[in-house]
Amino acid sequence: MRQVVVVGTGPAGLTAAIYLARANLSPLVIEGNEPGGQLTLTTEVENFPGFPDGITGPELMRNMRKQAEKFGAEFSRGWVTQVDLSGNGFKLQVEGMTELETRSLILSTGASAKMLGIPGENENIGRGVSTCATCDGFFFRGKKIVVVGGGDSAMEEANFLTRFASEVRIVHRRNELRASKIMQDRARNNPKITWSLNCIPVEVESDGNRVKGLKVINNETGLEETIATEGIFVAIGYHPNTHFLNGQIDTDDLGYIVVKPGTTETNIPGVFACGDVQDHKFRQAITAAGTGCMAALECERFLESVAAHDELEV
Ligand code: NAP
Repeated sequence: MRQVVVVGTGPAGLTAAIYLARANLSPLVIEGNEPGGQLTLTTEVENFPGFPDGITGPELMRNMRKQAEKFGAEFSRGWVTQVDLSGNGFKLQVEGMTELETRSLILSTGASAKMLGIPGENENIGRGVSTCATCDGFFFRGKKIVVVGGGDSAMEEANFLTRFASEVRIVHRRNELRASKIMQDRARNNPKITWSLNCIPVEVESDGNRVKGLKVINNETGLEETIATEGIFVAIGYHPNTHFLNGQIDTDDLGYIVVKPGTTETNIPGVFACGDVQDHKFRQAITAAGTGCMAALECERFLESVAAHDELEV
């Protein structure tokens, strides 16, 4: 049986792996379909401490992985399809591998930004299409930006982006916003924010290198229009990657793992959660890394107590 398995390789999982490996616990780290997590979708990261000249998201993640490997973390590519957390050893079914059994488990599977699924969107991620205003807003100083969505995330992103942009246009598919009143009021009272309500995005237009506009259809008039913009922030929500847990770990209404406040402990002793899979508030690389460190330290203590208990039993 393994001592510890880490599922997910964003900043949370990789930080946990670095700490666990340095503690000689030989973690096995399972990388899913998006190795490196959401940061691999961004270009320049300028707010991760320690890099005064910035670093690209993919490079930051490569460095973290290398650091974990250097101390002995083992990596395996695979998709966790099922877990059984009912016994003392947790069982994991991973596509392409034989069943894994582990004493402790760190869940750092993150959350994925929902995308519009329209032509031009995927190809232009990092070329004007973004899902993170805090990460990328700075690159649109003095430019016209579009934010898509009508919820609290869209209002928050739009307000934040007015610090940089000359104009932020909120594009929403309905006439009514889903956002809370206070967030709506804040956006409505911001003179830099303009509105395209009842507009459904249908295509991201680019010159082959950078985004140039967002084509929308007005669902009342049926008229098509291209909104000229160099930046499109998709803020239509996130979905935490918790489906494979099949209800065995407590989650909130939105599907995020619930941890005991101030810890990374879940409702099952020996299972810890860190990063965006348990955080829909901050969603930053540095906060994810911080909780990854917490999970590793708590896991270490858990394994020590299990070992002490086993010794008493002998
Ligand atoms: P959300 O409340 O689910 O809103 C998503 C928005 O995106 C909705 O307006 C939805 O339109 C739109 N949308 C969804 N799919 C779309 C598509 N395919 N095409 C176009 N538009 C689409 O998500 P959220 O804004 O991320 O908020 C999630 C939760 O976090 C909420 O509980 C929210 O209150 C909370 N949150 C709070 C704060 C804060 O208080 N500071 C900040 C961020 C988030 P429809 O309205 O037509 O469905």
